[in-house]
Amino acid sequence: MTETYKRAVFVAPGQIRFDELPIPKPGPGQALVKVRACALCTWEQRMYTGEEHYYPLAGGHEVSGVLVEVGPFTYLDAQVGDRVMASTLTRCGYCESCRRGLDNICDNARKPFRETDVPGPAGLAEYVLLDDYQVYKADNGVSFEAIALTEPLACVVRSVRKARVERADNVVVIGAGVMGMFHLVLTKQIGARVIVSEINPERAAFAKKMGADAVIDPTQAPFAEQVKALTRGRGADVIFCAMSVASAVEQAMEAVAKGGRVHVYASIHPRGTKISIDPNLFHSKEIVLTGTMSQDKEDVLQAVRMISEGLIDLKPFISLVLPFERLEEGLQAALRPDTYRVIVTM
Ligand SMILES: [Zn+2]
Ligand SMILES: [Zn+2]
Repeated sequence: MTETYKRAVFVAPGQIRFDELPIPKPGPGQALVKVRACALCTWEQRMYTGEEHYYPLAGGHEVSGVLVEVGPFTYLDAQVGDRVMASTLTRCGYCESCRRGLDNICDNARKPFRETDVPGPAGLAEYVLLDDYQVYKADNGVSFEAIALTEPLACVVRSVRKARVERADNVVVIGAGVMGMFHLVLTKQIGARVIVSEINPERAAFAKKMGADAVIDPTQAPFAEQVKALTRGRGADVIFCAMSVASAVEQAMEAVAKGGRVHVYASIHPRGTKISIDPNLFHSKEIVLTGTMSQDKEDVLQAVRMISEGLIDLKPFISLVLPFERLEEGLQAALRPDTYRVIVTM
């Protein structure tokens, strides 16, 4: 009798199917991970509400677990029994983007790399089959919940690295969701002065508690005016847009200092929304408008090391932990503004 495992699949807005599948055997260059925790990212939340819809989809990309089986010709730094982070993002290694050091936006990232009945990262499951390069050893003393947050942390590691934040820079983070808060923590570690922009009073208070030097509410007075008042009239050196609203990028362009960077971290919704910018801002103020998506291999390594070495405390960002069977309840909780990360455990 073959042993089976459970996997969740998004099939329609508000509908999740649980499949029962035979546990796969890792082939050459592959490893099998028994999933222990999977965090519910905004992407999964959007799949659940139907705001994004590529059905059917095997979601779950913020994954931690135990390495249980290694295929032939598979070389890992982790041993069977070790706690690992599963980086479910695929990186082909041979497309031009991968070869130019942009494996976070691999040209083949959305194509299937192995026979599968349902596309997707498939981390919302009791087991996940990975290629060797997707397995990152974590410290065995760290909780599976914390290790599951490696992926979102790695995204922010990349964002902060690419935005070239320096000590004593004035940084603004727009949006005090979990991603905004990771930007706050990482830029504070560098030694920046961080202003958080947030409308929701509970989230604003949380940002203050997490170390924000100032918190502003953009509905109270024009955003650029408030930022300038807090930066000797100069504007911010770096502004991170960590919310999905296009107008935040326009506002950031008005509030950034000469030579500063506006960094679009979050995807903008609805997709295809356009913004309007005075191009003279680039000319006369030498402003850079840029962004990042996902994380490359080095970003994942940095994030997993930070978590393993205790260089970041992730407990404040874990709002709720539920068993895998209660996934739907978890997604509903994750959608509420008073929660940060919700995690399901297997
Ligand atoms: Zn994520
Ligand atoms: Zn590639």
